[in-house]
Amino acid sequence: MNASVDKISPSSETQEFLARKHQLLIGGQWVDAASGDTIPVEDPATQEVLGEVAIGGAEDIDRAVKAARAALKGEWSKLPASERSRLIWRLADELEASLNLATELEVLDNGMPREIAMYSIIAAGINHLRYYAGWPTKIHGQTIPVAPGGTQNGESLTYTQREPVGVVGAITPWNAPLPMAILKLAPALASGCTLVLKPAEMTPFTALLIGELTKRVGIPDGVFNIVVGYGADAGAALSEHEGVDKIAFTGSTAVGKIIAKAATGNLKKVSLELGGKSPVVVFPDANLEAVIPGAARAAFFLQGQNCMAGTRMFVHEDIYEPVVNGIAEMAKIFKMGHGLDPASLMGPLISAKQRETVMGYIEAGKASGADLVCGGEAIDGKGYFVQPTIFGRTSRDMKIMQEEIFGPVLSVQTFGDCSLEDVAAEANSTVYGLSGSVWTKDVSVAHRMVNLIDSGQVAINCHAAVDPAIPFGGNRQSGWGREFGQEGLEPYLKTKATTVMF
Ligand code: NDP
Repeated sequence: MNASVDKISPSSETQEFLARKHQLLIGGQWVDAASGDTIPVEDPATQEVLGEVAIGGAEDIDRAVKAARAALKGEWSKLPASERSRLIWRLADELEASLNLATELEVLDNGMPREIAMYSIIAAGINHLRYYAGWPTKIHGQTIPVAPGGTQNGESLTYTQREPVGVVGAITPWNAPLPMAILKLAPALASGCTLVLKPAEMTPFTALLIGELTKRVGIPDGVFNIVVGYGADAGAALSEHEGVDKIAFTGSTAVGKIIAKAATGNLKKVSLELGGKSPVVVFPDANLEAVIPGAARAAFFLQGQNCMAGTRMFVHEDIYEPVVNGIAEMAKIFKMGHGLDPASLMGPLISAKQRETVMGYIEAGKASGADLVCGGEAIDGKGYFVQPTIFGRTSRDMKIMQEEIFGPVLSVQTFGDCSLEDVAAEANSTVYGLSGSVWTKDVSVAHRMVNLIDSGQVAINCHAAVDPAIPFGGNRQSGWGREFGQEGLEPYLKTKATTVMF
């Protein structure tokens, strides 16, 4: 089986962007890395080099943190909240005006199909900025009716103020590069923080575009800094830096643990959006016309390189055959190809290393005795394509049921007429707790299951509902804290209490 990797040429605007010199953004200036080093960035569908990007290290991180610290105390801190709103809204407008460029860069950099790139940039980029543009004028403290220090009622006043937490270090992965950058930047700007972003070095272009747009709209120099770099070098330097007040990290659970340890030096605040292995629980009365496409999307969206992916399905044995066969039929017709080809429904994995990792899990699945229902092979030729793969008749102890694969692999386990608690015990039987879904027409069963599943987000008759206003984040080893919505602002704020005695 071959994937079609005929690349449709990107627009001249995108070609011009790629042909530029790509530098780091520090203190409002585009600068080379201190080492002068650059690395090539490749298109994962064709393995062609898209461009060369400056690659920063500890010295560049230090410069960027100092620039962010200076900006925190400068003009930015004096802007009225309404002006921060206006700047964030203008950034959304500029991103919207650059939608085609941003979409093509995201497709070329990451490999995802064009339609998905455009949808995610609108939903989790532009709309996210507009949502947070509404917040600066609504961030305020409380008055508290206490009478400390022996005062009587009416003789003192206590009030609180919400202040920006300070300089934020953001470290983001490659699976949805532009939304990942905006998920950190939007609440940071709304709360008055300054930011140093280290995007994944494999997918830097849309972050660099955002950097250009922040300059265009007049966000003051040093408020947003970008240091493209390797995790073990620039990422580690950022998470250890004593001048950083908070780290906002999205990535794997393993690296999340390293970052939590690195943050102990100055006890900076840490929020972590980590891995997942989310359950999709299907009861026998569920509407299969909704379940089959819904579960296929849950498992294979972004080639399964999606933290919320519904990669463990628990289906009642009475409907196992039609559900699994239906998803397999869908998987077989997903056309794989270059993301700029409008016919492509699935792109490649991000890299040769990721394909090797995913194929290792697929081999482990084959060896485990699970039924290989469809897929199971990497595709010959250019690009890192892997067939959407389904394993049936799996069990809890299998590696493919326990570990996050981050590739297009769905594992399906059955349950019989047991209690909801027994079903939930299986659904909860990993270290993760990020997302999940329950499929049934019975509202009572649905809500009971929601209460039993230990995840930060559980959907009923859909999977992974995402909106700027819906809090999102993980329980257990899927993370600390929440992004999106009002809760997503909290990690970027600190509270000061003031008491006045009359
Ligand atoms: P990684 O954890 O490998 O990398 C994430 C980021 O951390 C990258 O920028 C990486 O740099 C950097 N990094 C790596 N090592 C270190 C280190 N020692 N110190 C500081 N930073 C470091 O994850 P992936 O990029 O492979 O992304 C996939 C993972 O992300 C999956 O586990 C997925 O579930 C999770 N994820 C979670 C989401 C959520 O919202 N919960 C959303 C999306 C993904 P570089 O790669 O550039 O070297």
